[in-house]
Amino acid sequence: MGNVLFIAEVENGKLKGYSKELASKAVELASQCEGQAYGVVIGESVAQAAEELGQYGVTQVTAVEGESLESYIGEGYAKALLDVVSQTKPQIILASASGSGKDILPRVAFKLKAGLATDCTELKIENGKLKAKRPIFAGKALVDVTFVSDVQMASARPNSFMVKQADVTKKAQVNKVAATTGGSKVKIKEIQTAEKGMKDLSEAEIIVSGGRALGSGENFKIIRELADSLGATVGASRAAVDAGYISHDHQVGQTGKTVNPKLYIACGISGAIQHLAGMRTSKVIVAINKDSEAPIFSKADYGIVGDLFQLLPILTRKFKELLGK
Ligand SMILES: Cc1cc2nc3c(=O)[nH]c(=O)nc-3n(C[C@H](O)[C@H](O)[C@H](O)COP(=O)(O)OP(=O)(O)OC[C@H]3O[C@@H](n4cnc5c(N)ncnc54)[C@H](O)[C@@H]3O)c2cc1C
Repeated sequence: MGNVLFIAEVENGKLKGYSKELASKAVELASQCEGQAYGVVIGESVAQAAEELGQYGVTQVTAVEGESLESYIGEGYAKALLDVVSQTKPQIILASASGSGKDILPRVAFKLKAGLATDCTELKIENGKLKAKRPIFAGKALVDVTFVSDVQMASARPNSFMVKQADVTKKAQVNKVAATTGGSKVKIKEIQTAEKGMKDLSEAEIIVSGGRALGSGENFKIIRELADSLGATVGASRAAVDAGYISHDHQVGQTGKTVNPKLYIACGISGAIQHLAGMRTSKVIVAINKDSEAPIFSKADYGIVGDLFQLLPILTRKFKELLGK
């Protein structure tokens, strides 16, 4: 029997979409290990969001609350997580491969001397132990990871798992714990948020990205309009970011963000290896490029050869019509 502990993240009082995925996966893995799935939510005022995890089959959640936890600080959050680990004694510990998830798990793995597989796209139980699949060599190959340590830890790439049908009548039993942190060496001075109303790239289900072909920041308007028509988040290649057309937080790729949406539309992007490294696990890739030989077409599920300045306004109009916007 093994218990599965997972970290759920809350922003503005709401559970992150990828935390619902992780909750669903943790419940599935725990049932295969004949154990329990325990959630842990850390923050200033998170107990209410913690209850919501019950909708995805989680029965018990620890909410570690405290003013010092208002914003993510690695040392404080890791300490809070380690306290919960010592109480729940999980065999498996999971987090999403978000900014904070990528930071907290190595800290905790080091303290527990546990094996850690990062950025996984598949998690399952085999012979009573966790088996993880993760991309390597900038996504060119996938590797299966098994563990030799007793405690097995993994971070999961957002949009990798199905979210269980929510049962809104169910609430998790929440055990509120006051944070015992303090004396942190780190102070948050400023928080810069993503564009209002737009999902962060790493959890977006649809992304419309623009490349150097856009030619100016002003021309990115046609990317934003197409994104708006689909409720998508705007991404970009490094060439577009370096040219100053759009800010770096939109960059997808090796030195930008790794994304895993259901639909990725690459407009005027050649498909350099460093760009593919950040988006090749997207479920459906659509490429729009005037060069039929562009490497992006070899990775695309659907390709349109043509001038994006002519095609994008047509697509935007059609999507608006079809989606009744
Ligand atoms: C260490 C390192 C890290 C890097 N990290 C990243 C990263 O994180 N992300 C990233 O994206 N890149 C990264 N790069 C850069 C990468 O190698 C490419 O230079 C970059 O991705 C190219 O961007 P692009 O496709 O927009 O531009 P280009 O390669 O110039 O491609 C533009 C494309 O637009 C097409 N086009 C032109 N006009 C039109 C039109 N009117 N209609 C339709 N299509 C048109 C062209 O046919 C062409 O295929 C990195 C490079 C290095 C060395």
